[in-house]
Amino acid sequence: MRKLIAGNWKMNGLVSSQAEIEALKGLTGSATCDIVVCPPFTLLDRAVERVKGSSLTIGAQDCHAQQSGAHTGDISAEMLADIGAHYVILGHSERRVAHGEDDAMVLEKAVAAHQAGLISIVCVGETRHERDEGRAIKVVDKQLRASVPEGATGQTLVIAYEPVWAIGTGLVPTNEQIEEMHAAIRQVLQERLGSDGHSVRILYGGSVKASNAEALFRLRNVDGALVGGASLKASEFAAVTLAAQTS
Ligand code: PEP
Repeated sequence: MRKLIAGNWKMNGLVSSQAEIEALKGLTGSATCDIVVCPPFTLLDRAVERVKGSSLTIGAQDCHAQQSGAHTGDISAEMLADIGAHYVILGHSERRVAHGEDDAMVLEKAVAAHQAGLISIVCVGETRHERDEGRAIKVVDKQLRASVPEGATGQTLVIAYEPVWAIGTGLVPTNEQIEEMHAAIRQVLQERLGSDGHSVRILYGGSVKASNAEALFRLRNVDGALVGGASLKASEFAAVTLAAQTS
């Protein structure tokens, strides 16, 4: 499966940060994996313009479930597609915690994203407490069943497994834990989506960086990565994408 490397800039980046996207264009060359950068809303339009003619694509970090209307401060999937964004991250744990997003909301947003022609990157993952209690697989199974839209395919949906305790902490699950979880996710996708479940890419996310990326990409059912902190510097992010191309 062609790997996907997605960079999540979170609430980082000013107009001057476009230099990182410009540098990335040169560093990633004609990539043999898909690469998407997800800057904040304020930079999306400029970023789309900047990557034209390159192998990079642009995504957003969230969208509203409605197409338009009285939703002050929100951005719809249609608006994102309209400016040329290709992807949208949905249900990131930071949004689940800070904005009270639950699986039902993530499902609505994913449906809206797919209707608008965007590819959704739906994030799932357990907390440290849930893993310590031996409930990690059960928690992720429930999140997936409640947030993956009927009829999704590998062309419309990407899953990112992001253990909450591994995000921004430098901690990474063991290879066995990642392979076990990704196999469980693959099984749910096949149950939910039939043969289309085979083609949905399952990314690993949580403290991915240049030094650990190659080993992660060799694991079974790891079809790429969702990268936070290490996506902010073009050279580091480019090294992660290079690891995807060589592993
Ligand atoms: C993320 O926020 O999606 C993430 C994986 O962050 P980091 O790579 O910094 O752990």
